[in-house]
Amino acid sequence: MGRIISIANQKGGVGKTTTAINLAASIALAGEDILIVDADPQCNSTSGVGIVKKHVVRSVYDVYTSKYAIRDTILATAFEHLFIVPGTVDLLAVEIELVSMERREWVLSDALNSIRDRYKYILIDCPPSLGLLTLNALTAADSVIIPVQCEYYALEGLSMLMRTINLVQKSFNPSLSIEGILLTMYDARNSLSAQVAAEVQTYFDKKVYTTIIPRNVTLAEAPGHGKPALHYDVRSKGAQTYLALAREVLNEKGIGQRT
Ligand code: ATP
Ligand code: MG
Repeated sequence: MGRIISIANQKGGVGKTTTAINLAASIALAGEDILIVDADPQCNSTSGVGIVKKHVVRSVYDVYTSKYAIRDTILATAFEHLFIVPGTVDLLAVEIELVSMERREWVLSDALNSIRDRYKYILIDCPPSLGLLTLNALTAADSVIIPVQCEYYALEGLSMLMRTINLVQKSFNPSLSIEGILLTMYDARNSLSAQVAAEVQTYFDKKVYTTIIPRNVTLAEAPGHGKPALHYDVRSKGAQTYLALAREVLNEKGIGQRT
């Protein structure tokens, strides 16, 4: 059965989408099908894997409104083994439309349970909020990856995220665990990055991935070309670091050598 991982942090711009796209593409190299669910109304992971937003006919919004079964919203990308349930801006309405619905926190979970056998991993790219879209993603997930940007105020907001995770564990999904804390946008020339990394490592200890994502221009440029970094410039530090993260997540060696 596929493992469902939400990539969440209510802080904006910390690398959730970059991680969803590049971790998914890196795991896909191992030859098993991976699904990204773009649960963010900004739809950056949809465009980041080369799906043109205006061509999206069915999306995760249709899953939330029960218009289509999730299997009918899945699109193949140009990259082998990499699939996506695209997002649309309509998702903004979900936060309001779902409020009066019964089992409103379980909509995505129920949908994903019907297809999880088909994928090795399902990665859910969350929006920068702790509203119903993120609650659905956490309720659906086996675990959560929390990207933390190596900048000032990195830890600010994490306690609220931890409280939300506790609430989801108590109320909706007792088996939700923390997959790992991922340090992102590390700048070796900036002593602040090292300070923040040390602080996060002290606080979260073994939960922090050994792999630290550097600030890297390829990671910023690749989505503009609709490609994961490893399909844009596989030799870049960014692509190679996400391959290392994939090895860490899979807890096995050898994927990086296939590129
Ligand atoms: P949001 O909360 O808005 O969804 P996010 O958490 O998904 O944001 P990203 O979109 O992944 O964050 O990253 C924010 C910006 O920083 C993007 O322009 C992205 O290309 C860039 N970026 C992300 N990671 C890196 C990195 N390691 N090096 C350089 N640029 C990066
Ligand atoms: Mg994002």
